[in-house]
Amino acid sequence: MTHRVTLIPGDGIGPEIMEAARRCIDNSGASIEWEVQEAGADVMEKYGTPLPDHVLDSIRRNKVAIKGPITTPIGTGFRSVNVALRHALNLYACVRPCKYYPGVRSLYRDVDVVIVRENTEDLYAGVEFEMGTPQAKQIQALAEGKIPDDAAISIKPISVTASRRIVKYAFEYALANNRRKVTAVAKANIMKYTDGLFYRVAREVAAEYEGRIAYEEVLVDNMCMQLVQKPELYDVLVMPNLYGDIVSDVAAGLVGGLGVAPGANIGDGIAIFEPTHGSAPKYKGQNKANPTALILSGVMMLRHLGEMEAADRLERAVAAVIAEGKQVTYDMKPRRDDPTAVGTSEMADAIIAAMEK
Ligand code: NAD
Repeated sequence: MTHRVTLIPGDGIGPEIMEAARRCIDNSGASIEWEVQEAGADVMEKYGTPLPDHVLDSIRRNKVAIKGPITTPIGTGFRSVNVALRHALNLYACVRPCKYYPGVRSLYRDVDVVIVRENTEDLYAGVEFEMGTPQAKQIQALAEGKIPDDAAISIKPISVTASRRIVKYAFEYALANNRRKVTAVAKANIMKYTDGLFYRVAREVAAEYEGRIAYEEVLVDNMCMQLVQKPELYDVLVMPNLYGDIVSDVAAGLVGGLGVAPGANIGDGIAIFEPTHGSAPKYKGQNKANPTALILSGVMMLRHLGEMEAADRLERAVAAVIAEGKQVTYDMKPRRDDPTAVGTSEMADAIIAAMEK
């Protein structure tokens, strides 16, 4: 069966790692028809928006997309295209598996955690008030002395609906992927109403899975320490948006860094696969960036499409190339200036060759 998939190359290192990932996926045995769509700063002039409607329509039609990173200009211009996509398509779950592959440079060996991050609300909802505005003053008045005059204000909404949806997703993911435990992560001792609500809803959902999937709660600061001390104790972690962003990077660091951390943004019936890392502008066009995170995002995509054999073949080939440690990019070498490091496209060649063995 041929699958039609929307492909968004992105910018910065996006196009070169996407070319590498696309070649690997094309050689995995799955049949994919790519529908290439451009988004980001480069299409602004032509369409007047970094996220044209026809890109969204393509994803809605195909239901599955793979995406390279897109730069968010700081201070001016548009809001993040990455965040806008998640909102427009209601991709409420961000799934980031962090798994150790032998050969990766890491202090840890026994890490296999999956972070399930809520994607639609929390401090990412974009409800912000600039210092000194009438709205900021109104909120300051409501806060009865707890907010100084010269403060800008961000609002953190945490809802029952979004919390229930994400925790349920985490438990269903655990069941479908033979996982044993879900840990809910928040800071409910300080944010009693928002994070307290998250825990209350998480407990209600956990009760529905009692006897099948274990449940526990760990405060986010403790979780960061636990992850660097005993990551082997953890399995599926579910948390609100901002904690998920930060803890994902901690967990990515445990298994070799951003260059190897894949991800997916999932909603009801639509999924976009993309690496955790950004567009790394300093490496743009240099054939230096590590394509592994995007290729492993492709492995997740193949599994989502039901192409289990192709996914296993591609994952095994990535693991073999990493384990051998020869044809890997600079960031996977013991020293960053190692002259034997290969480029993005050469690493993809090695992965394709490993699939053919
Ligand atoms: P980044 O992830 O681009 O880079 C962080 C560090 O990791 C840099 O040193 C970079 O060179 C390195 N790095 C990242 N990916 C790499 C790879 N594949 N191989 C080797 N090294 C790699 O984060 P940043 O610098 O904070 O962000 C750059 C831009 O990307 C920003 O505009 C940001 O908004 C955007 N961004 C986009 C996404 C996305 O598209 N989903 C995610 C994060 C950041």
